[in-house]
Amino acid sequence: MSFDVKRFRRPLNRQGGTGFAADVRPAYLMGMHQIEAEFTFAAAHRLPRYDGKCFNLHGHNYKMQVVLRGDPDPYSGIFVDFSDVEKAVKESVLDKVDHTNLNDFIENPTAENIATWMWQRLEGKLPGLVEVRLWEIPTSCVVYRGPNGKFA
Ligand SMILES: [Zn+2]
Repeated sequence: MSFDVKRFRRPLNRQGGTGFAADVRPAYLMGMHQIEAEFTFAAAHRLPRYDGKCFNLHGHNYKMQVVLRGDPDPYSGIFVDFSDVEKAVKESVLDKVDHTNLNDFIENPTAENIATWMWQRLEGKLPGLVEVRLWEIPTSCVVYRGPNGKFA
């Protein structure tokens, strides 16, 4: 069965050009590498605008994940060094939040607002940042995709 990629041609609107991308295949036909790195920390918080138990100071064992997308270097075969990802997340996020009261530096530390805060601290420090995921409980998480994230 043949497959006509010309059907999927798209103009380069974002660059303001009128031509076509060198590789006109849509992302799902091009292959993609995605790195996901997971971290845990413990912290206290209270939700000042919440009508219920979470209004009171309490704690969580949080889990967070960063998701990066990019192409491996042709020679090394590596997109990003895992140890560089761990170092950036530790310095920018974990050292600040672990064993703290999140209300000391996030005014209304809901899972959504914490994930946004994490994105803002990590933006520009992790190549190809796509998502920050945050779990307060094991069964539900918030996924935040910031305004300048990589899309593929
Ligand atoms: Zn809570």
